[in-house]
Order: sequence, then structure tokens, then C-alpha cells
Amino acid sequence: MNIAFIGLGNMGGKMAQNLLKAGLNVYGFDLSETAVTYFTEAGGIACDSPQAAARTADVVITMLPAAKHVKDVYLGENGVLAVLKAGSLCIDSSTIDPQTIKDIAASAAEREITICDAPVSGGTIGAQAGTLTFMVGTDEATFIRVKTVLSPMGKNMVHCGDVGAGQIAKICNNLILGISMAAVAEGMALGVKLGIDPQALAGVINSSSGRCWSSEVCNPWPDICENAPASKGYKDGFATQLMLKDLGLAVEAAGQVKQPVVLGGLVQQLYQQLCMQGNANLDFSSVIQQYLPKQA
Ligand code: NAD
Repeated sequence: MNIAFIGLGNMGGKMAQNLLKAGLNVYGFDLSETAVTYFTEAGGIACDSPQAAARTADVVITMLPAAKHVKDVYLGENGVLAVLKAGSLCIDSSTIDPQTIKDIAASAAEREITICDAPVSGGTIGAQAGTLTFMVGTDEATFIRVKTVLSPMGKNMVHCGDVGAGQIAKICNNLILGISMAAVAEGMALGVKLGIDPQALAGVINSSSGRCWSSEVCNPWPDICENAPASKGYKDGFATQLMLKDLGLAVEAAGQVKQPVVLGGLVQQLYQQLCMQGNANLDFSSVIQQYLPKQA
């Protein structure tokens, strides 16, 4: 099977490497020369446009920053839909709004090409280890095909419903994650200010009803979780600007259906401030800095 992989960044580069390790032919394209170099060093075949990568592909996988890039790669001047054969399968694993992928899928269907959404959870560590969770939006028959393609890159494939449903699951999960991280940061900072030892407080939370992923696995207070970004200067995690993007998607989608997302809107402002302060690339658990005295 020939696979075209478009978007070989922090996530896509590692995912493509796992396809290569599984012995598949992977044709790749990225705008970044550095990303392409890593890809070719791992055995990938570099192409000079999305169309060149897709021309002989049975499956196209995209892992791009945002909706405008995804639209461009499928429908733009050099868009892959124009060169794919009927019956091809495209899997978009970027995090974007549900409506965009539905619109692209409708254009693809006119050419007898199937597109599904399969955003991921698990971050760069999961991408490297091949243990991502994929949230897939497509019909039952396509899901079986998609699972086979994704298996070298993930350990959980969840069928969420029709096209767009994977993105709905992803943005709702990250809405909860953004809120829960801010809640843990607020509680940890208050406790320490009131005089409790942060280790003792984390121990209580993690054996009580405040326990969640943000307190137990990725606690925002340094040195509570050995491998968490907070214990490594908030580096190498899930960038604050990506969390801000996902909260924006959730708030926008909520607006479209007139559904309140009160806490989502509030924490969006917290992460926005963090980005404005120059911390856009730090892990989103650095939101705790909004609750701590500024260092001189
Ligand atoms: P990234 O910025 O590291 O990678 C994106 C890559 O796309 C870059 O290398 C860029 O050069 C390339 N690109 C942009 N426009 C292009 C185009 N027109 N054609 C070809 N290549 C193009 O981002 P990432 O961290 O890999 O994230 C990718 C997606 O995955 C995003 O939608 C993000 O929200 C989502 N995501 C990221 C994480 C994470 O932990 N980083 C976790 C889950 C989901």
C-alpha cells in the first residue's frame, strides 16, 4: 500500500516514522525542510508538492496545523483531490472544526473519494510510541479500512459516528482538559499560598474527589509528576497555543448551536493571556503561572 503523508511536523513526522517501521511505502510533503530531512532519514520518499505525494497513493493522511491548511491541501491549487483515483481514502488527523471536514468530504464524494476525520489524543509521546488514540468520523465500512491503516500509529481507534464526529469528540475532550488543568492550577496555587506542602496537597487531591489527569499525570506544580512538562520547565508538552486553538474551536462550535460553554470561555482568556506573555510554546500546564507571583 502506498501512503501519502502531508504535514510532517511534531506529530506527523513521528506518525510517518511508525508507518515506515511497519514496512509501508510513504511519500511525504511538508513546507519545512527540517521536517522533510527527518522524514527521509527514516526512509520516507520526499515529494515536492502534495499532488506529487498523492499521485500514486492509495491512502492520504494529513496532519496539519489548522483548517485553512487542511482546505488548501485537499482543495487548493495543488490540492490532492484533483489527482487521486476514485476509491482512494483520505484521513485527516489534524484538529479542526467539524464543519470544515464535512465540507471537504462532500467535495471528495463528488469524485468518489472518501475522507474521514481521525484527530488524535496522546501528544508527541504517543505519536512516537505508536500509542495514539484516534477518534474517527466515518461510516462503518470505511472505519474497518481506516483501522488497518492507522494501526501502526495507535492503540485505540474509537468510531465516534459519521464524518465530523471525531472532531466533535476531540474538541469536547480538550474543552474539559483545558478547564481541568486551570482548576488544578488554581487549587494547587491556593493551597501552597495558604501554607500546605505541594506534595502533600497533590497526594490528597489524587486520593480524593479532585483527582483527574491534570492532577495525577500532568500536575502543573513542578516536581509532583516526574515526567510532566511542569518538572521540565514546561517544555515538550502540549503547547499553550494549541490548547488555545482547541478552546477556540469548542467556543465557536458552541456558538453555532447556541450552547453555553461558560467555563470554556473563561479559561480561553487565561490561555490567551499566557500566549500574550510570550508563553505560547510552553506546555499548557504553565497556566499555573497566572496564579503565582511574577519572578523578579
Ligand atoms: P506542527 O506545527 O509541528 O506540524 C505541522 C506541520 O504542517 C509543519 O511541519 C508545517 O510545516 C506543515 N504544514 C503547514 N502547512 C502545510 C502545507 N500547506 N503543506 C504541507 N505541510 C504544511 O504541529 P503538530 O504539533 O504536529 O500538530 C499537528 C496537528 O495535530 C494540529 O492540528 C494539532 O492541533 C494536532 N495535535 C497536536 C498535538 C501535540 O501534542 N502537538 C496533540 C494532538 C493533536
